[in-house]
Amino acid sequence: MESKTPFQEDTEILTHFGENYADHLGAVVPPIYMNSLHVVPKENLYDPQPVPFIYGRVSNPTADLFERKIAALERAEKALSFASGMAAISSCILANVQQGDHIVALDFSYSPTREFIKNDLPKFGIENTFVSGKDVSNFANAIRPNTKLFYLESPATGIFYLQDLRAIAELAKKHNIVTIVDNSWATPIFQKPITFGIDISLHTASKYIGGHSDLIAGVASGSAAMMEKVHHIRMNYGGILGPMEAWLCIRGLRTLTVRLKAHQEAALEIANRLLKHPAVREVYYPGLPSFPQQELVKAQLTGFTGLLSFAVHGGSEQAKAVASRLQWFNLGPSWGGFESMVNLLENEDGEHVVRIHVGFEDVETLWADLKGSLDREINQ
Ligand SMILES: *Cc1c(COP(=O)(O)O)cnc(C)c1O
Repeated sequence: MESKTPFQEDTEILTHFGENYADHLGAVVPPIYMNSLHVVPKENLYDPQPVPFIYGRVSNPTADLFERKIAALERAEKALSFASGMAAISSCILANVQQGDHIVALDFSYSPTREFIKNDLPKFGIENTFVSGKDVSNFANAIRPNTKLFYLESPATGIFYLQDLRAIAELAKKHNIVTIVDNSWATPIFQKPITFGIDISLHTASKYIGGHSDLIAGVASGSAAMMEKVHHIRMNYGGILGPMEAWLCIRGLRTLTVRLKAHQEAALEIANRLLKHPAVREVYYPGLPSFPQQELVKAQLTGFTGLLSFAVHGGSEQAKAVASRLQWFNLGPSWGGFESMVNLLENEDGEHVVRIHVGFEDVETLWADLKGSLDREINQ
């Protein structure tokens, strides 16, 4: 028998994994377990048996199904879901550091993550160093005797530089350092960091996994032992995902590969056209052959999603002008939904670049909008 491709396996996980119609009267969609409490058989009074579900802050069957699907996609032993991406991030970090420890983190990671590491953790005596992460040596050189954690985001969602996940995981293992990667941009479909030796792969599920701009959620995967530590934090800090959102996340997963294919096709087309527009100086998108880290792209990513950035000739003011004239791209900080979005972010030189999320409006509609705004920059 021919072996299945990872993508083929993933499509099976998204549609059917962990589900048994007979458990729910043949219902094609499992019901939402909208309960806070599970009662326990009275025999347990005398002979306490562990029960899988007892209280909704600890676990919930709907969240559990979402978690099992994500763990299967990530090729991890276990996943845990959270009330937001930030709850996943802060819980996974807190599970792995204590007073006196040191974290090395990516300087272009998601800004609330940076603030958490920079402003909140020092209150508990946890130190930090931020590095550009383009070379493994950035991490190697930042290691101190008390370094316990490398925090990564690859590709990072501003100008999309990758970190060498295999090499960084190998370095970390030598020094007993835990590695966490924010995998939100690639999703578990296009990148599987656990298979590269990374300890925790986490996501904001508010973006592509939910996919419809109608929920806030997060999820993290790793070994059973690692997730046991994280589960302890989730129980005591109370950050579990609610059943309604977990159910919506499962629904989002059903169409994830289909949506990603559409985002990829449209974003590649837009990126290629942007590259040729005379008002555009640089396009930051790992899917372009002009993207500088080709080898890493091929070694780590199996596809590209809908979020990309570009720099405009002239700099920040010109970028702002281009963004402000767009009609179909609404201004906002989020992405990963059905709709196109625009935001302004700084690149490494402090210059503002235009970040766009390419949604499901027709690519010609979106290009006409972008071209119209960019043309104004060269005709002035
Ligand atoms: C949005 C985002 C987060 C945070 O997720 P929330 O669900 O909003 O808490 C984390 N990482 C990245 C890359 C994001 O874009």
